[in-house]
Amino acid sequence: MNNPLIKEGMLSLFFPKRCRFCNNVIDFRLYECKKCAESIDKITGEICLLCGFVKKECFCLGHKHYYKAIAAPFYYEGAAGKVIRRLKHTKDEKAVELFAEEMARIFDENFSNLAYDFITSVPLSKKSYNSRGYNQAELLAKEFAKEVKLPYKETLIKSYETEAQHTLSKTERTGNLIGIFEPFIGDISKGKRIVLVDDVKTTGTTLNECAKTLLIAGAEEVICICAAITKNDKTGSTNSKKTKAITKYI
Ligand SMILES: [Zn+2]
Ligand SMILES: [Zn+2]
Repeated sequence: MNNPLIKEGMLSLFFPKRCRFCNNVIDFRLYECKKCAESIDKITGEICLLCGFVKKECFCLGHKHYYKAIAAPFYYEGAAGKVIRRLKHTKDEKAVELFAEEMARIFDENFSNLAYDFITSVPLSKKSYNSRGYNQAELLAKEFAKEVKLPYKETLIKSYETEAQHTLSKTERTGNLIGIFEPFIGDISKGKRIVLVDDVKTTGTTLNECAKTLLIAGAEEVICICAAITKNDKTGSTNSKKTKAITKYI
């Protein structure tokens, strides 16, 4: 039996291949089931590194942040969004591997010619960490670090609990987070080029505050890699069409 396809087909009789997103049994030649494949909004091709959107869908108008650039493999939609939401409540190692592989893909596509010192992640407060038992951003960051062969380092502490960001307006979101992150160890970030990881970017306020804290702690540069980016934040992001229209007339 030298034909690898026949061999794989035979094996799938005993060990059926499963969809990477929903875990349903699929044809052994595929990676995702048809339903998931149709709902996934993958980010590929030329992207705007200021907001992470595909260039032709970018609404950021060149607005700069403390982080130098951002990229994610998926929009927070369909099957990818569903798995990330599940990851907030269920520690699913397969899902972490899947996203880490895709995060490595988008990292290689956009930053492979640049050198970075280590990977870090957006922290949870002690209270949230203890009630959840893990930090999904940290799980993603550690697996992603293995994929891109860079060390993982803990750099930040979230000093206290805040109201959930998605319940607040954009102005409240920024105020809600000012001064909330602190360096974990004083000079770990000094002079370093850091890749900051989170599960989802909504307005980018959390990532921006973390990046600011790392820069204050002496980091040379911070870029962000997320598992997904919210496509249309209806609570007042610069990504929303309405905000874009208003901005145009100011
Ligand atoms: Zn599926
Ligand atoms: Zn943009």
